[in-house]
Amino acid sequence: MNRATLMAKLKELIRGSVVDDEEALQRFSRDQSIYEIPPLAAVRPQDEEEIARLIHFARDAQIPITPRGGGSGTAGGALGEGIVLALPRGGSLSRMHDFSEQGREAFVTAQAGVFHRTLQAALRERGYYLPADVSSAGISQIGGNVATKASGPHALRHGAIHRFVEGLVFITDRGERVDTGDPATVPVRIRDGLSALGERIARDRRVCEQLNARRFMKTASGYNMVAFTEGLPADRLIAQVLTGSVGTLGVVTAVRLRALPLELEKCALLLSFENLSEAGDAVCALLDHPVAAVEIMSRETVRILKAASGTPRAMLPDAHVLLVETEGPGATDTVAQINDLIGARRYRLLAQPSVLTADAEIAAVWELRKQALPVLNRVASGRRALAVINDVGVPPADLAAFIAEVEGLFEKHQTEAIVYGHAGNGNLHLRPLFDLRRPGLARRIQQLADDVYTLVLRYGGTIAAEHGMGRLKAPYLKREWGEALYGYMRELKSIFDPEDIFNPGVMFSNRPLTDHLAPEFSDARGHTAAQEEES
Ligand SMILES: Cc1cc2nc3c(=O)[nH]c(=O)nc-3n(C[C@H](O)[C@H](O)[C@H](O)COP(=O)(O)OP(=O)(O)OC[C@H]3O[C@@H](n4cnc5c(N)ncnc54)[C@H](O)[C@@H]3O)c2cc1C
Repeated sequence: MNRATLMAKLKELIRGSVVDDEEALQRFSRDQSIYEIPPLAAVRPQDEEEIARLIHFARDAQIPITPRGGGSGTAGGALGEGIVLALPRGGSLSRMHDFSEQGREAFVTAQAGVFHRTLQAALRERGYYLPADVSSAGISQIGGNVATKASGPHALRHGAIHRFVEGLVFITDRGERVDTGDPATVPVRIRDGLSALGERIARDRRVCEQLNARRFMKTASGYNMVAFTEGLPADRLIAQVLTGSVGTLGVVTAVRLRALPLELEKCALLLSFENLSEAGDAVCALLDHPVAAVEIMSRETVRILKAASGTPRAMLPDAHVLLVETEGPGATDTVAQINDLIGARRYRLLAQPSVLTADAEIAAVWELRKQALPVLNRVASGRRALAVINDVGVPPADLAAFIAEVEGLFEKHQTEAIVYGHAGNGNLHLRPLFDLRRPGLARRIQQLADDVYTLVLRYGGTIAAEHGMGRLKAPYLKREWGEALYGYMRELKSIFDPEDIFNPGVMFSNRPLTDHLAPEFSDARGHTAAQEEES
């Protein structure tokens, strides 16, 4: 079907906007990843009925559909060659309703187009918050957060967003509207398919052991298969497997979320280390205490942040920093105990630990920490902190050893790198500073990614601890989970979307991760690492 016919057909189908001018379409060919993929068309449907109509049409015409939220993903999940179906930024798919309180908790339904920050502000007004507190609050939507199994610093204590998803509404590959709160809406093929798959997984002892071993690991890699081992009723199982499915199982239109009361008492501790792997070692010791968050920032990260945005008085120059936060009654006592523990361990600290108790001071440090990614994206002098291996995780007990080894890899590749992240969960955002002026960028990206992911997997770690799956990570999925679980993931996909209409290439892919590199990152337009090798 040519572009003009497609546009005409789409305009017939929906009242929402159909993006047809090249410049506007260009915006949908990029997200926050290293990729550029021009879609055939991009649409913003107005309601669930229009989404259903679009899906029917796309399935009949065999044109893939890529759901898109805020487009803040760093793994290329919101890009596709077919129709990009963007959730509207206002109107009927961007509302919140049915707020209720029960005991200490609150519940609210947010439509997929609600921005994360809007939801948090609405909850805060009522004395609650969603602990899956992403740093991309102003640019990501709830539908996208759920689709990527998003989380933030407080995942250490509370887990990722799936822990707060009570139920959801989504549109299937056949255009059915499924509300997990209403069993009558769940298609029989999905209910029976999940039940049969669940029984097979339950009988597979090795796979159950593998899933149990990873139950508490922070990971958004692959489908949420751990949910199959939790004895959940069908409605909750469906909501859990949709969470983290990166638009490959259906289009999420609304989510019922649980929220917690705001913690009024907080205390933070800033520790300045001379050596990065000593900071990693300290993390493990800290975890014996009831901490809410443990963040790490390498010296280089701190230096760049300070240069870009100034820094609170307490944060020292020229040090690798650990930020530890405690909350609730006893928060200050816990920080005092941690302080004693750090003193006893005789780490090479570059300054006395700073204890922060004032809300404003703690908030200022968090604000600085959450600026890390946008600031790093602006590193100048021909170098770019590219999102290539930006979201890995290892068991926290191995953090120090892993950091030492990964620093060795950066040296081998002659690449300076920025290291920061949610150290308490073993989740590191590694940002190599690639020199865009040196030739062979695609090859360098591919080789560094191969080396780092191999190391991560040797430690039993994960390729996607927080930012969800996408084109960047799909080629490594089977290596992380192994043949059997990978096979079950493929079966799950075929229960929901046997014709692969939703977001092909984003969960499963045999293509090199350098496919579709944006032009500024490819030496010759569109060349992958494999093509470079040949030429
Ligand atoms: C500066 C910055 C900071 C970040 N900080 C964090 C952080 O703290 N924690 C974190 O987890 N991530 C973080 N991220 C990554 C990103 O913001 C998250 O993955 C976020 O949840 C994506 O939401 P989005 O609405 O932008 O989704 P998009 O980027 O639009 O899409 C992401 C994926 O979800 C799918 N999707 C989107 N909406 C739907 C829907 N309604 N139904 C089905 N599938 C859908 C898409 O197809 C795609 O595969 C950060 C990114 C940036 C740029």
